[in-house]
Amino acid sequence: MLSKRSARPECGSCAETGSVPSSWTPKRFHRVQRVARDHSKAFAHAAPVPQASSQFLVTATVSKTLAERIEDLLPQTQCTKCGYPACRPYAEAIAAGEANYNQCPPGGAEGIARLAALLGKPVIPLDVTHGEERPRPLAVIDENVCIGCTLCMQACPVDAIVGAAKQMHTVIAELCTGCDLCVPPCPVDCIAMVPATGERTGWDAWSQEDADAARARHDRRTVRLERERAAAEARASARQASRAAQAQEPQEAQKAQTAEAMQPATQAAPAAADDPEAKKRAIIQAALERARKKKEEMAKLGAGPKNTAHVSAAVQAQIDAAEERRRRLGLNDDDNAPRSDDGDKPA
Ligand code: SF4
Ligand code: SF4
Ligand code: SF4
Repeated sequence: MLSKRSARPECGSCAETGSVPSSWTPKRFHRVQRVARDHSKAFAHAAPVPQASSQFLVTATVSKTLAERIEDLLPQTQCTKCGYPACRPYAEAIAAGEANYNQCPPGGAEGIARLAALLGKPVIPLDVTHGEERPRPLAVIDENVCIGCTLCMQACPVDAIVGAAKQMHTVIAELCTGCDLCVPPCPVDCIAMVPATGERTGWDAWSQEDADAARARHDRRTVRLERERAAAEARASARQASRAAQAQEPQEAQKAQTAEAMQPATQAAPAAADDPEAKKRAIIQAALERARKKKEEMAKLGAGPKNTAHVSAAVQAQIDAAEERRRRLGLNDDDNAPRSDDGDKPA
């Protein structure tokens, strides 16, 4: 067994602060050392955070960002205890200087040491306002009580619960991260969190392989939910468009009827108002009609024209002019021909 002093990381920064728990075994110290070195390549003294104007900018574009390296060190239970909706947003907040690196209870003291090594900062105690470091629990559903409401499935960040609506649900133990998130939504309180790692806590109760697998499941779930959300939005938009179209149809039909009803009037209006020839024909037609009626009345009274076959040259000239005018206007009804006494003056 190594002494407490020799068990501390070689960089000395942790030893100087004296904040690393003295109860840690050499194996645990070395694991922190190895993990931090593997993930960051900067355990001894963390590299400066790249600045826009620094020479490190080029390096940052070809290697992982600080947030990505921080995320690699998190346990990936996606429990939200750090105050962020998942491990990735917490990593981004740490990288941005918006969150402290001691807010992750599942990572516990070792998780803080890993982050401290990466960031070049001292190891500090867990902020217990976010929860205690504890043995890792497993969710267990009392299947006799479960009513199959699916609420726990919807809450599980890593798809570790299987079941269907109105059917009993169960937890796949190998996939459960012990995040507790399925417990509050259960309306019949049939989910228990059962400690499953004895005395082991934090990274002693959770492997990097466990973390990588949970992260992959969470990422897949996020993509699936995004796809389902987009599909639901598309369906909602389609329904809305369909309803709008149905509401529009009667209005369009009414508009079309109104337009149809107005069409003869609008077409007739230019004929009467704008076409001088049509107007002239209408006037002449009316005059012919009046003349025809007058001729009938005169004939009844025995006062009709008595000699229209032998007329004087002057009268014949008037008749010829009238005939020519009728021909130009397309009016060839001799019987309806206007006479001078009809008031239709020769041209
Ligand atoms: S394991 Fe939980 S507390 Fe830790 S970073 Fe991830 S979401 Fe936050
Ligand atoms: S089953 Fe419950 S405790 Fe386990 S990962 Fe899913 S939500 Fe978390
Ligand atoms: S929330 Fe509770 S009742 Fe609903 S499906 Fe899950 S375990 Fe069953």
